[in-house]
Amino acid sequence: MTVPILRRLDALRSLTRRWSLSGDTIGVVPTMGALHDGHLSLVAAAKAACDRVIVTIFVNPKQFNNPADLANYPRTEDADARKLERFEVDALWVPDADQMYPARFATTVSVAGLTDVMEGAFRPGHFEGVATVVTKLFTQTSATDAFFGEKDYQQLLVVRRMATDLDLPVTVHGCPTIREIDGLAMSSRNLLLSDRARTTAPTLHEEMESIASGLRDGLAFDPLRAAAAARLTRAGFTGVDYLDLRAQDDLSSLPAPARPARLFAAAWLAGVRLIDNIAVRD
Ligand code: AMP
Repeated sequence: MTVPILRRLDALRSLTRRWSLSGDTIGVVPTMGALHDGHLSLVAAAKAACDRVIVTIFVNPKQFNNPADLANYPRTEDADARKLERFEVDALWVPDADQMYPARFATTVSVAGLTDVMEGAFRPGHFEGVATVVTKLFTQTSATDAFFGEKDYQQLLVVRRMATDLDLPVTVHGCPTIREIDGLAMSSRNLLLSDRARTTAPTLHEEMESIASGLRDGLAFDPLRAAAAARLTRAGFTGVDYLDLRAQDDLSSLPAPARPARLFAAAWLAGVRLIDNIAVRD
């Protein structure tokens, strides 16, 4: 079934108003497009849980701190719409830029605390951009449910905090990270990797798994981290922004997985920044 593509808010609202009046639940899957099986797993979760499903595609300029990253971000709308056909989603919301940020737009949503570290520290303004656009996507779509990937675990926590703090009537669902067969977390930015870099990229996940297994064996985190970072550099990674052990609930830094914990990493490979995270202790 061809997916109805909507670009103007009045058209979207006339649909969602009907659905809300009939008491339908509305699941929204926010994306920036270049859809892969990770995104599609969120769509499947939304279809299983909700009466109506809206997938959104908006490459949000406010969450890019690097203009080259925004310019290079893959845009594949026609292929994306085709990938959604088999899911029979109810609408694909691809707002025109002026529908999201009209002239004189002046409001920012900012979540304190959770955003001080990792992506928030390395990408100034990123989470304000995310929180602002997600707030708008929730209200534009009249969402009752929203589906986010654990691939961007910090983002998932920020969105949950924001929805709770602002009393948005949306249940935020977290869905597991979908990986390639070699372990690389699926990501739209993987399309930017050269063939050679693509063969090196799974090393990031391998090194994270090796740290996690060392931690489960009771080894100290700092030497495990240092050895993994050195091996990443030898494999061809040009920089490691962070390789952190943090609490699963509030992202506080941990010396050891004494409570539910995850390992988080961001590293550069051939000009592409890869991020990943895995549970060390659930
Ligand atoms: P993006 O298009 O990168 O903004 O991602 C849109 C949504 O898809 C976010 O909730 C991501 O966390 C999620 N996502 C991205 N990659 C994956 C993946 N490999 N597995 C599961 N969810 C993912």
